Amino acid sequence: MADLSARVRAEVRELKPYQAGKPIEDVQRELGISRVVKLASNEYPEGPFPEAIEAIERELGQLNRYPDPGSYELGHAVAEVYGITPEEVFFGNGNNEILELLIHLLAEPGQEVLYATPSFPIYGLICQTHYKVGRAVPLDANWVHDLPAMAEAVNERTRLVFICNPNNPTGTYVTGEQVAAFMDRVPSDVVVVLDEPYVEFVTAEDYADWFSLRDSYPNLVSLRSFSKTYSLAGLRIGYLLGSEEIVSLLHRVRQPFNVNRLAQAAAAASIRARERVAQRRRENRRRMDHLQKGMQELGVEVLPSQTNFFLAMVEKEIPDFFDRLLHEGVIVRPMQQFGTGERSFRVNTGTDEENEFFLRALGRVLRGEDRS
Ligand SMILES: *Cc1c(COP(=O)(O)O)cnc(C)c1O
Repeated sequence: MADLSARVRAEVRELKPYQAGKPIEDVQRELGISRVVKLASNEYPEGPFPEAIEAIERELGQLNRYPDPGSYELGHAVAEVYGITPEEVFFGNGNNEILELLIHLLAEPGQEVLYATPSFPIYGLICQTHYKVGRAVPLDANWVHDLPAMAEAVNERTRLVFICNPNNPTGTYVTGEQVAAFMDRVPSDVVVVLDEPYVEFVTAEDYADWFSLRDSYPNLVSLRSFSKTYSLAGLRIGYLLGSEEIVSLLHRVRQPFNVNRLAQAAAAASIRARERVAQRRRENRRRMDHLQKGMQELGVEVLPSQTNFFLAMVEKEIPDFFDRLLHEGVIVRPMQQFGTGERSFRVNTGTDEENEFFLRALGRVLRGEDRS
């Protein structure tokens, strides 16, 4: 057989594929343990809203039909909730499809897409396969986006900037004032993306809200997701809020049926349930405070976070730390691919009971009393 890998572009050959959080089923199968708690992919621990489940059930008998290519119902639902027009909303097969479409739409070979590091590894991966257009700017000493340094890095080749806010994996955020000061320094034909899939969890009052900045900066867009607060990660649906111009350009480069029927129905039902979203924000904050205190009591350093996860650092490097937690039935996220160092890991909130299970397991591993 011909050597196909020799035929693909060098940047694809060199690529290190994305390592997703380990699925629960894999750990159960590989280690033969039944109780496994996954706190590795920032998913919400409880299932979708009852309204979403009902909407999905109503759609099931019609799965022989293609979905609405214009996501009419969903577009109107989102527009109504946020007080904008349906022409200012764009949907994708997960937020991640949209960020890929943005890069394909805007960056030609030789041009640049800016993002921070350590941040969400998908930005770098997509840029790598798209003519290596990516350029990373380090976070500052407090693990926060260094927006002045990013503004400095913008040049005539820059087409797109990603600001992950709050940032994955650090949980840190930039304020509205800081984003505005950054936007004042960026040319108006550079599209700036606030990637904010955790925005529904944020409680900080000085957080940058896209709605308060959009009138001053039409080149600013917000990328959001139904994967986190709304518990629809398995359905794959995310959305962009932005100017009609950016939205209409994105429609040109997407596939006609990129958002499936179940996702459209479930998302429309979920976005309307504002009281449930507010309730989850409060519930998550309570669980975060508990998790933070529990880890600190075990001597683990934890960065303050506005999301549903923490970047945590153990005092000294523990050999096989991740494997030892796996044997205890706990999946957290190792951080090699994110670049926050060997002593760090990312953990998200589970149910109260799962959080206790995790803290007990972590304590045993830190004291060397674990089963491996
Ligand atoms: C979880 C996450 C997303 C969500 O992506 P989906 O494709 O909608 O599941 C996007 N960006 C970041 C930084 C995330 O952490």
